Amino acid sequence: MPYKSFGFTDEQVMMRDSVLGTLNRVLPEAKILDLEANSEYPAEAFQALAEAGWLSLPFEEGHGGAAASNKDLAVFIEALGYHHAGITSAFMTTVIYGGLHLQFHGNEWMKRELLPKLIAGKLRMAVGYSEPSGGSDAAAILTRAKRDGGDYVITGQKVFITNAHVADYLVITAKTDPEAGHKGLSLFLLDTKLPGVTIRNLNPMGRRTSLPNEVFLDDVRVPASHLIGEENRGWPLLMRGLNMERMLLAAASAGQMIKIIEIAKDWATQRKAFGQTITQFQSIAHKFADMAMMTETARLHTFSVADMLDAGEDPVLETSIAKTVATEHNMTVADMGVQIMGGAGYMDGRMSQLYRDARVGPIGGGSSEIMRTVIAKRMGVI
Ligand SMILES: Cc1cc2nc3c(=O)[nH]c(=O)nc-3n(C[C@H](O)[C@H](O)[C@H](O)COP(=O)(O)OP(=O)(O)OC[C@H]3O[C@@H](n4cnc5c(N)ncnc54)[C@H](O)[C@@H]3O)c2cc1C
Repeated sequence: MPYKSFGFTDEQVMMRDSVLGTLNRVLPEAKILDLEANSEYPAEAFQALAEAGWLSLPFEEGHGGAAASNKDLAVFIEALGYHHAGITSAFMTTVIYGGLHLQFHGNEWMKRELLPKLIAGKLRMAVGYSEPSGGSDAAAILTRAKRDGGDYVITGQKVFITNAHVADYLVITAKTDPEAGHKGLSLFLLDTKLPGVTIRNLNPMGRRTSLPNEVFLDDVRVPASHLIGEENRGWPLLMRGLNMERMLLAAASAGQMIKIIEIAKDWATQRKAFGQTITQFQSIAHKFADMAMMTETARLHTFSVADMLDAGEDPVLETSIAKTVATEHNMTVADMGVQIMGGAGYMDGRMSQLYRDARVGPIGGGSSEIMRTVIAKRMGVI
């Protein structure tokens, strides 16, 4: 990955090289294509990340973690994104989305019992917020949790839940006070093996090694001790992780763009047309320049917000810009990659996979439309 480092430390460069070494060994290109074709979770690669200690990265030392900085995490996720979007999603759902809820908002049992298992790769997680009635309006969910003695009884439906089919636990949202808008929202830790939980794979355009799922909750009895935080206080807990999530989604897209350029360059510098290599055509060479500019712009935003987060700032505007710029550039760069490769780019293979993988970026984790509204609000124009 011979790309510019934005002030990366030697340790960060070593981390990047080390994780890529592991992934090249356990998840080579041929295996990625095979797993994608079979919609199979990258279990072996995930386990290898656990064995190498990488699942401990964001957690506090007191919980067995490595206390990585935001910049460390951005460097790490960029490397995962560069290698394969599906292994990035596998890491994100368990470690970032699920694990950080346990660390920041979980009770003692969740921290002492579950976090060490998660770090060891023995417990997988996912998060279920979106519902068929809507994902952007996360407070308008219909899933209900009613207190009944020592339990909550939960009924409802979640949709698009990445890796729910391989998760031991989901963090889900449910309404404990349906009349109170976002002030009636609570978070629960849901054991996926409980009676009344049904999980069904969906059929997505890309990232098929980390499938999205429908989750049906039919009178599921969840112990009251599995409430995360306090009843009706779920909304601020959801908001807490957004800056980091957006920064890491930007980092993942930046990694994917670097890979797209590499594949396109390997191909285009060999490919001949009209007696010359196609990179000699200015219209092709300029596409590479455009791809490099978009990639470096995304990286600049990503590592800049990582630095801001590490400095203790609350850069909502900047993380929203980073996420939008990186995911939208990723789509454009993937489109150019396919175009440079001509018919070969359109056929099933790594480039067409990267093209399909890129499409979800501006939809998931806060759509581009929602991000623009956040940015405009922070600018004071709304
Ligand atoms: C592959 C994949 C994986 C996912 N994984 C997860 C997961 O693990 N967990 C989870 O909870 N969710 C997950 N999601 C759901 C994702 O977060 C939602 O798809 C996303 O929030 C958008 O919600 P929606 O699809 O219901 O679209 P809607 O909210 O119905 O939006 C439809 C369109 O309207 C636009 N829109 C909505 N509101 C506004 C507004 N106020 N102003 C302007 N435009 C607006 C949107 O931007 C979008 O273009 C995943 C989605 C995908 C595709």
